Amino acid sequence: MSIAYLNGQYLPLTEAKISPLDRGFLFGDGVYEVIPVYNGKIFHAEKHLHRLSHSLKSIGLTIDVSETQWNSILNTLVEKNGVGDLAIYLQITRGAEESRNYPIPKKFTPTIFVFTYVPPKITFANAREGISAITLPDIRWSNCHIKAITLLPNVLLNQQAADQGSQEAILIREGYAIEGTSSNLFIVKNGVIQTTPLSPQILGGITRDVILEIAKQKQIPVEETFIFEDLLAKADEIWMCSSTREIRPVVKLNDHPVGTGKAGPLWEQMFQWFQEYKNNS
Ligand code: PMP
Repeated sequence: MSIAYLNGQYLPLTEAKISPLDRGFLFGDGVYEVIPVYNGKIFHAEKHLHRLSHSLKSIGLTIDVSETQWNSILNTLVEKNGVGDLAIYLQITRGAEESRNYPIPKKFTPTIFVFTYVPPKITFANAREGISAITLPDIRWSNCHIKAITLLPNVLLNQQAADQGSQEAILIREGYAIEGTSSNLFIVKNGVIQTTPLSPQILGGITRDVILEIAKQKQIPVEETFIFEDLLAKADEIWMCSSTREIRPVVKLNDHPVGTGKAGPLWEQMFQWFQEYKNNS
């Protein structure tokens, strides 16, 4: 049985209960993280905790949990859930009040909830199949650098993609391809990797960071630059990346093949390098 952490207690996930007056439930007033675990080892815990602090700070939510305490909670949970390959979901909200009020209360007790699940297994063979994507207008807010739990636009956009037989939507803002509903965007054009620069318009993905680090190590040219929607359609390769899906090649965009219509050579290379990086970290 899956064991969760809720406000200082470890308990079976099915027994974890929170108040319906929780501001996370009423207002989506909270932030979250998703952290991969490979063979029992938490992948870049420090980067995820750093992004968590950034999200918390951005919404003025202060909590009294140190990095050491976080590491202890996360590692305990991984152990209790049988180690191996897992994903950790971590959510912090501004807690429950006596009623429903917009103003943020001066004093509040945050709700801290963490659980683990087993993400779909990624193999070279299944990743190489690739995904299809469609482009959609980015209807989200202008603070996408905060990993906020208010994901309704992302959910609706993702569903629109699913309704059209695609696995992801690439979001377009002012003529530029920005990122996916739950992933960052990379393209390859003439041997150069391009990705949207960090700004409040995108979530600074940890997988994105790792890809940039690997590209630098391997001396593959990279440009952090805004990607015109037109260029997206002409890209040799398109990749989408996230913690639980790693790096996926997009082989079909708006019903047209991307490049040759198959996962590209630089993706194949990057996928292998990413596996080596994972196994050595
Ligand atoms: N952008 C968005 C909008 C996301 O939701 C995610 C995944 N949570 C990412 C990018 C990728 O981030 P990461 O690599 O840290 O999972």
